[in-house]
Amino acid sequence: MPESELRRGFRCAPRADYFAAVAGRDHVVIFPFMAKGHMLPLLHFATALSAQHGRLRVTLVTTPGNVAFARSRLPASVGLVALPFPSFPPLPEGVESTDALPCPSLHLTFMQATGLLRGPFAEFLASLPSPPLALVSDFFLGFTRRVAADAGVRRIVFNGMSCFASAICKALAASPPTSFEPGTMIQVPGMPEHVAVRAEEVPDGVTKRADPDNPFTRFFMDEIGDSDVRSWGVLSNSLDALDAAYVSALESFYETGARAWLVGPLFMAAGDMPDGEKKEQDPEGCLSWLDERAAHPGSVVYISFGTQAHITDVQLDELVHGLVQSGHPFLWAVRSDTWSPPVDVGPNNRIVRGWVPQRSILAHKAVGGFVSHCGWNSVMESLAAGKPMLAWPMIAEQHLNARHVANILGAGVRIALKVGADVVGSAEVEEKVRELMDAESKAAKRMRERAVWAQQAAKSAVSHGGTSAMALLKLVEELQETYDDGVVGKCANSV
Ligand code: UDP
Repeated sequence: MPESELRRGFRCAPRADYFAAVAGRDHVVIFPFMAKGHMLPLLHFATALSAQHGRLRVTLVTTPGNVAFARSRLPASVGLVALPFPSFPPLPEGVESTDALPCPSLHLTFMQATGLLRGPFAEFLASLPSPPLALVSDFFLGFTRRVAADAGVRRIVFNGMSCFASAICKALAASPPTSFEPGTMIQVPGMPEHVAVRAEEVPDGVTKRADPDNPFTRFFMDEIGDSDVRSWGVLSNSLDALDAAYVSALESFYETGARAWLVGPLFMAAGDMPDGEKKEQDPEGCLSWLDERAAHPGSVVYISFGTQAHITDVQLDELVHGLVQSGHPFLWAVRSDTWSPPVDVGPNNRIVRGWVPQRSILAHKAVGGFVSHCGWNSVMESLAAGKPMLAWPMIAEQHLNARHVANILGAGVRIALKVGADVVGSAEVEEKVRELMDAESKAAKRMRERAVWAQQAAKSAVSHGGTSAMALLKLVEELQETYDDGVVGKCANSV
């Protein structure tokens, strides 16, 4: 963005006449949390909104270090505003996205730093000629609801999770079981009868909720929880076919009248279909490598654990041994810059570092299965491509996603969770990769059928008249119909 376009305290902002030309009721502001798995779906949401509602002006708020990533994934019609990222030692200068954190223990510090964006964000909202139709912001950015309420703007919260996982987390935080003893099955209150989870699948953030001295709990209580449930609505990157059964349980934790809007898969709603029409950036040449294997459809295993998990070298060693032993060709996106494989992986296999075009990889016909940490975006992308998963969750709500995919949807198999064991051995990896990729076994065929069922459901949800397409239309319609009420009514919610 040229210097001439900078204005006020914002490091990057559209021309001054950009905001003057748009009525508040036609303007949506989106503020994603600065983590790739949280930001990508809201970039897709911005794109979908801008494309489907021609009159709407969409502005995405972020920080300077995230502008290039966001700009390259947004149409020119979406405006970008960058608020200066606060300096907050011991957070290293220049770290503006969680995937750049040198260690996971800085995650809370990062979230605390983002809380300092409250002032600049309030200044930005105050600079608008009239209150926008709505603010869509991440639940980690709890301050945004209070700022929005002060400005008379309704906030729609986004947390990047499925309704299934969100509802379980809320239910177990509100009514914890007598113990979270590993190995016990917990029936989740308020959820359909088939929903029981193992204690060790419950995210740390939920099991520690009863401990007021835990720093994450304190941050959650002070900054996130209340703002979340007092939001006007919930935006969900999911679809009815996968998640409708859990919507009412989720909505029960919000104020009366707040609804969950299932508008996913958002990358498909944005027009990025998984049949590879629009190729993503591919600096490592993964897609041409896969093209060379296209004569063997479904033969390659793709492996990725997302952008957050820090995996030990010992675990990476076991994994590579298991993959090689399985005999199935693999493409593995490794996050670690320092680890190198202790075995020669041979010409049929490829290990890459750096950014990979995951959606296009999953959609490639050479790929038959996905070894995944089950971040919700990865789950949606795998299902949208009709590919089954070997679910290997690591942190947060990923264990619940693994249960959703494998035990409920039947579109995957799970790495065995051994209580007390830190490392999954190569033999387990080998066995489960074979189970996933075996072309002939009844179990693998069934998984593939279920994944293809989910793919069809995703396609139909975002197509004309589909559940997600309709939800997106209705969301805007309802916001616009109640714009004046919202502007006045919600001021009372200010804290
Ligand atoms: N992603 C990608 N290329 C990469 C790394 C990640 O396209 O090299 C995308 C991936 O497709 C997904 C997101 O980043 O959309 C990661 O989100 P997810 O919820 O799967 O996991 P997280 O990184 O949040 O744990």
